[in-house]
Amino acid sequence: MLEENLRKVQENIRKACERAGRKPEEVTLVAVSKTKPLSDIEILRKTGQMEYGENYVQELCDKYEKISEPVHWHMIGHLQTNKVKYIIDKVELIHSVDSVHLARQIEKEAAKKNVEAQILVQVNVAGEDTKFGVDTGMIHNLVKEISTLPHVHIRGLMTSAPFVEDPEENRCYFRKLHKLLVDIREKNIDNVSMDILSMGMTNDYEVAIEEGATMVRVGTGIFGARNYNK
Ligand SMILES: *Cc1c(COP(=O)(O)O)cnc(C)c1O
Repeated sequence: MLEENLRKVQENIRKACERAGRKPEEVTLVAVSKTKPLSDIEILRKTGQMEYGENYVQELCDKYEKISEPVHWHMIGHLQTNKVKYIIDKVELIHSVDSVHLARQIEKEAAKKNVEAQILVQVNVAGEDTKFGVDTGMIHNLVKEISTLPHVHIRGLMTSAPFVEDPEENRCYFRKLHKLLVDIREKNIDNVSMDILSMGMTNDYEVAIEEGATMVRVGTGIFGARNYNK
């Protein structure tokens, strides 16, 4: 069941790449395992799926400690400054940096542990009131400020598009974020590489790939619906 879902998502990624004239190797699938048992991850790991996304620090740390063989963890949820220290040396990439304040805390903890943090700047591309992420108008300044932090390496941008019935409605947002990524990349800022564009979830990852996503975050489409009340 899980393996079949994963294969189907991989196949859809391949097809979306084909439609867009892109290579499937350009797109990394992050399996979003929040609220799901470690046993699910162990099953998928055996098929070669190495990237997993988690939203909650405690859950990520628990799974990190208990997993039988290492995988790559992605922090994709809102991150509080006081929790940075728990994950800084456990995660491959932090997708959800949306303030200088948070980036400075990451700098501090990364320096302490002598690691270089790989981060994405989260953008609220549709300007939704309810969403985390910086407004598009603030992004250039934020990137410039974070780029001065020696242990924090900006790798790109991330967004969660609005929840919509028809994923086509989000195409304009994905296009806009891709354009922002290219604009920033062209400035050639030191310590900023802009090679990762994390956008697209179960409902809209194919459209996101057509618009340039290099990383998609798929939960429900692989693991099934989540139950938050367990
Ligand atoms: C939960 C979550 C996902 C996965 O959502 P699905 O719709 O289940 O694919 C992706 N990104 C973020 C930031 C999430 O919180």
